Amino acid sequence: MTLNEYQNCALETAIFPGRGDFPGLMYLGLGLAGEAGEVTDNLKKAWRDDNGELTKERREAIKAELGDVQWYIAVMAADLGMTLDEVARYNRYKLRSRQARGVLHGEGDNR
Ligand SMILES: [Mg+2]
Repeated sequence: MTLNEYQNCALETAIFPGRGDFPGLMYLGLGLAGEAGEVTDNLKKAWRDDNGELTKERREAIKAELGDVQWYIAVMAADLGMTLDEVARYNRYKLRSRQARGVLHGEGDNR
């Protein structure tokens, strides 16, 4: 499956209030933050309950939450008029540029 194929699949289930307007983007942003929190909550529970061990069950839970994050990213990108491939290509360009200039470990978005 390509990134854009996944994005099209995600869009088939993108049904929520305010879709296509700013409230819809707010919904997506809040959802993205919530799902990212669910990923980190699993890490917290692995540390708290499993002595930092990532059990098979915990890995599966994290995989599910990463997929939820991916869904929000895919739909938000689409609603902003971007394909997932476009977003990934830009990120790759940005990282390679930073690597080539030796600023991967610096600070600031525009380095
Ligand atoms: Mg979730």
